[in-house]
Amino acid sequence: MGRVGLGVAVGCAVVACTIAGLLVGRRVKSRRRWGRVVGVLREFEQGCATSIGRLRQVVDAMAVEMHAGLASDGGSKLKMLLTFVDTLPNGSEKGTFYGLDLGGTNFRVLRVQLGGSRSSILGCQVETQPIPQHLLTGSNEELFDFIATRLKIFIEKEGNEDVLPLGRTRELGFTFSFPIRQISVSSGVLIKWTKGFSIEGTVGGDVTQFLEEAMARVGLDMKVSALVNDTVGTLALSHYHDEDTIAAVIIGTGTNACYVERTDAIIKCQGLLTNSGGMVVNIEWGNFWSSHLPRTPYDVALDDESPNRNDQGFEKMISGMYLGEIVRLVLCRMAQESDIFGDAPAPSLAAPFSLRTPMVAAMHEDDSPDLREVGRILEEALQIPVAPLKTRRLVVRVCDVVSRRAARLAAAGIVGILKKVGRDGSGGFAGGRSKGKPRRTVVAIEGGLYAGYAMFREYLDEAVGEILGEDVAQSVVFRISEDGSGVGAALLAASRSPENQSTF
Ligand code: ADP
Ligand code: MG
Repeated sequence: MGRVGLGVAVGCAVVACTIAGLLVGRRVKSRRRWGRVVGVLREFEQGCATSIGRLRQVVDAMAVEMHAGLASDGGSKLKMLLTFVDTLPNGSEKGTFYGLDLGGTNFRVLRVQLGGSRSSILGCQVETQPIPQHLLTGSNEELFDFIATRLKIFIEKEGNEDVLPLGRTRELGFTFSFPIRQISVSSGVLIKWTKGFSIEGTVGGDVTQFLEEAMARVGLDMKVSALVNDTVGTLALSHYHDEDTIAAVIIGTGTNACYVERTDAIIKCQGLLTNSGGMVVNIEWGNFWSSHLPRTPYDVALDDESPNRNDQGFEKMISGMYLGEIVRLVLCRMAQESDIFGDAPAPSLAAPFSLRTPMVAAMHEDDSPDLREVGRILEEALQIPVAPLKTRRLVVRVCDVVSRRAARLAAAGIVGILKKVGRDGSGGFAGGRSKGKPRRTVVAIEGGLYAGYAMFREYLDEAVGEILGEDVAQSVVFRISEDGSGVGAALLAASRSPENQSTF
């Protein structure tokens, strides 16, 4: 080899070594960055841990807070609101009644025809539509005029059908899924807005009056016979079909629960008498808080950016409005630590609420071998270009951690209620056992998150089994109720109608 040849060879070798060195260096760096991302995941998993011991502490805390909220107003973060519902539909109701359901995301108008024997809902027509976003922060009149107008249009479609005897005013059950201080079964005052609503002039006012005024403005002759929380509507419908129902839980945009309490246990209302000896209490459990809840820096960040800071802490860990956002916050942190989502993370990833909970569910439940759905959602919702398989797996893991924690905490909340009413199997005969067997207990559950997310349901069931033990857990039945809160409100209107009577 001549001198020139040698020079070229040496030159090539140097270039090759440099390239190899660069490649190795890049790989080492990339591995280090990946390691940091895995570190973020591990830390998050630990922060979200819901060991059985921790869940039991949450159960106890829920039962203790329920006691405190029943002892005095302001005695707990749990408002434990009286609903004045002392009787629940039992299947004997007859006639045509109307329901209105204002949730956090959807608005439903419905009509039910009742035949007078259990499970004989002869007909049920429902119209669902999303609540226009601008109404969430608009004016009080705009919101109630919208509701009254939709209701009027719905009724006008009845045409000349003979749904009601001539001259009889239509009776309506209004499901209003926000905390209200009830004045009677059919009226109540809004305590605060939740779930992203913020409308001036409603808080402190009588919600039934707002609706009746709007109905008068649009020329609709209708009477609000029951104003109920969505939990109470759900309880009513489930009780109509199954009298062992003692509680109802909502897991949708927000989360909440209600249950049947003995009036003598409602200490803050001494002397409260009802025919049945019981009353439905709206727990408003979304605002539950306990130092035993597994809170992470992402929960703190979510709370900080929310319009209702330091409020609805339990809800912010569980419900559909927030799960997607928690996942997004974790992915954002990962994007800061590494380039797993591309060199310059897309602005959508940084935009609050760009990842919605149904997307979390779809990614979590993607069972295709190459996680195609995960790739599609990352691309469409967050503008993250085709992510490698290991990155997609990581995203699924984050969805799993967030949803599992949510479902297990909801399970602990439910067992907290069972403990409060002595149905958790801990108190022998007094604990709801008869002839050595735990008594059958039905809990109604409603909400888009619970109904639409199978893995969430599985995690919830699993946790209830772990906390209660299989023997007692078998006696607890979850009755899923789709769109039931509005139907339940119509049933409550029916059971309060002079022609219908019912008891627990
Ligand atoms: P609302 O709370 O307004 O009464 P829903 O009970 O229908 O309404 O709940 C809607 C919420 O449920 C949505 O905001 C969403 O967060 C969540 N959700 C709906 N479908 C799914 C799904 N398939 N998987 C997970 N969450 C869902
Ligand atoms: Mg609802």
